[in-house]
Amino acid sequence: MSVSLIPILFPKMPKLIVLDLDWTTWVGDCGKDFFGPYTGTGDLLFDARGTPVRLYPDVRAILTEFAAAGVKIAFASRNPATARCEEALRAFGLFDMACVFLAHPSGGTNTKSVHFATIHARTGIAYSDMLFFDDGPVNIEGARALGIPSLQCRYPNGLTWAHVYVLGGLLNMDSPGVEKVDVGGAW
Ligand SMILES: [Mg+2]
Repeated sequence: MSVSLIPILFPKMPKLIVLDLDWTTWVGDCGKDFFGPYTGTGDLLFDARGTPVRLYPDVRAILTEFAAAGVKIAFASRNPATARCEEALRAFGLFDMACVFLAHPSGGTNTKSVHFATIHARTGIAYSDMLFFDDGPVNIEGARALGIPSLQCRYPNGLTWAHVYVLGGLLNMDSPGVEKVDVGGAW
């Protein structure tokens, strides 16, 4: 019997994990660096020009673990190539894992506040019950300002298990009854 990591890592079970797409879920900018139709299977596809398109190696397992723990999944991208992002997610077999998929400009802001408002409206889930990962520091700052526990996956290395462990660790250090630890201004 397998045991989900997620309830062990997080002091309070998140209800939703939100992922950026470009440079967080996959390598590159969809619609610019690559576009469909795709061939290939699993985490390595080839685009219309034969360019390799890779999912970051931990992403599928991370999403599978969160889903197994009952945590919903949402994708939130500021990439304007909506249809091309959906096509790539479908080619990787990830589209149907998500309860919300958003790929659109941010309505005049340079954060994802519009995306998060839509996700909240569609799911009813509070910002404090979400987790967010993105390679863009401004997106992370904006999400934290809303009260969403967030961690930057520094460009161009994408989301890894290390990020999931670190965010769980930061939240554990921040939880009631635990002496507050200075984590370099991350919180
Ligand atoms: Mg990105």
